[in-house]
Amino acid sequence: MGSIIEDVTCPKCSLMAIADYYYRTDEVIIKCPRCGYNYNRYFKWNRDHFFNCASEIEDAHEDDELIIDEQEGFGVYVLRTKDGYKTTNLYNCRITNKHIDEFKKLYFSEETDQERSYLVRYEEGEFKVIIGTLPEDFFTYSENTIQPYILRPLWKLER
Ligand SMILES: [Zn+2]
Repeated sequence: MGSIIEDVTCPKCSLMAIADYYYRTDEVIIKCPRCGYNYNRYFKWNRDHFFNCASEIEDAHEDDELIIDEQEGFGVYVLRTKDGYKTTNLYNCRITNKHIDEFKKLYFSEETDQERSYLVRYEEGEFKVIIGTLPEDFFTYSENTIQPYILRPLWKLER
């Protein structure tokens, strides 16, 4: 499936987020690996379309349910292992002591590359590092504001 991936200004923290726009289906995913904001717009496909092999996606959308799932970010953790594996977790609720304890267990494990792993909280417009060290490029901005077409279902407006 074709998509355009570009960096955009995060609507929540204003740092650089990633937008993945699927132009064939007019679906979009925006994720901020800094504050944890995420936005997901997709169609819950009508089952019949799988059998019809509908080529006209505009027609297919008529019956499909549009889902918009927008989640506020409260921070993220990035966990890197010594063999180079990276996990990013976006928090969509306030980070509690339980979350911190869970992360600590992972952070202090043998396999973790501690110098490149961290847990950062985002609340009231401020980042606060709880554990670890942020990478140098953490506070990076994007030149691109989110295109309005990405946040509105285009196919609907044109009719
Ligand atoms: Zn953000």
